[in-house]
Amino acid sequence: MKNESVFVYSQDLLGYKFSETHPFNQLRVQLAYELLKDTGCLDDDQIVTPRKATDEEIMLIHDKGYVEAVKKAGEGQLNQEIALNYGLGTEDTPIFPNMHDASSWIVGATLTAVDWVMEGKAKHALSLSGGLHHGFRGKASGFCIYNDSSIAIEYMKQKYNARVLYVDTDAHHGDGVQWAFYDDPDVCTLSIHETGRYLFPGTGSIHEKGAGKGYGFSFNVPVDAFTEDESFLECYEKSLWEVAEFFKPDVIITQNGVDAHYYDPLTHLSVTMKTYTEIPRIAKEVAEKYCGGRWIATGGGGYDIWRVVPRAWSYLWCVMNGQAPSGQIAENWLERWTNESKHPLPRTWEDESGIYKPIPRKDEITSKNRATLEKSLYSIRKSS
Ligand SMILES: [Zn+2]
Repeated sequence: MKNESVFVYSQDLLGYKFSETHPFNQLRVQLAYELLKDTGCLDDDQIVTPRKATDEEIMLIHDKGYVEAVKKAGEGQLNQEIALNYGLGTEDTPIFPNMHDASSWIVGATLTAVDWVMEGKAKHALSLSGGLHHGFRGKASGFCIYNDSSIAIEYMKQKYNARVLYVDTDAHHGDGVQWAFYDDPDVCTLSIHETGRYLFPGTGSIHEKGAGKGYGFSFNVPVDAFTEDESFLECYEKSLWEVAEFFKPDVIITQNGVDAHYYDPLTHLSVTMKTYTEIPRIAKEVAEKYCGGRWIATGGGGYDIWRVVPRAWSYLWCVMNGQAPSGQIAENWLERWTNESKHPLPRTWEDESGIYKPIPRKDEITSKNRATLEKSLYSIRKSS
């Protein structure tokens, strides 16, 4: 094995763009890539060029009618009423030129990551443009057209006969992936997210446990709004270790949305960069213990593309690759982007203390999250 970790990247992945003003902005992938290059943490021989997914691969999960609709929409040839039935042309998921191609590249990038790991050419692989976890079989939703993670999981099942653990730490529930494998005992999903009481997509309660043969293979830990690092990490670490011990996966795929950060404009959680160094550290340990190291990570949500995403996703790569950047952010990166950002860019890898005001409900939130965690793991503990 030449490199223990590979980074899947090319300019083709940046074409997934709804509009100039849409919050989902893949410039963040380029920002992370450049920050890594400027920090000296990413070598050229660690970068793998993605391929584009074929229609057959996309149809491992998605309905043919939906794929045809996405193609037509991207050519400006889908009537509005039909488009809306497929979730296309909404405020969240507008139609843009060549949307099928742009989305196929992202799916292909995650499949490229999968092949590197499952063929034993690398232990870990990162596909930052992926993690589009809200995409459904026949419908676009929440900025997501094709669900690269679901496709990757079905692909790993069919091509490599693998039992797959999917772990989602995006602030939003990983609904698309959960529902795609809800009745499947060979795929286990674990999602830690802000409660759906006030946040899209509204699902992800502890009672969503799977169906039929898949009952007991779907886990959700919905945490309260304003949850901070310690409590979020406690929920993540305990649930991941226990679920992995219960399921004993062949491979782990993580969705590393970073929209639980305090600065994120779309959600109400209060985690900091500390959480984004710990999440990959623990995922890597769990993969090492149960899966011979096999770990594929994707990106996901993240809407403060200046102050949060570049550092958080760079950390993800660095931890995967056995590095730990700290202290000052590379000066040339700051100089290049300072005028583009509407907020002052952070000058250090760590968040300064006091980026938000302490709230009096912290202890209450921590106890409530602990109770939620206990309930969501109850079925495993009862049987062991
Ligand atoms: Zn999200």
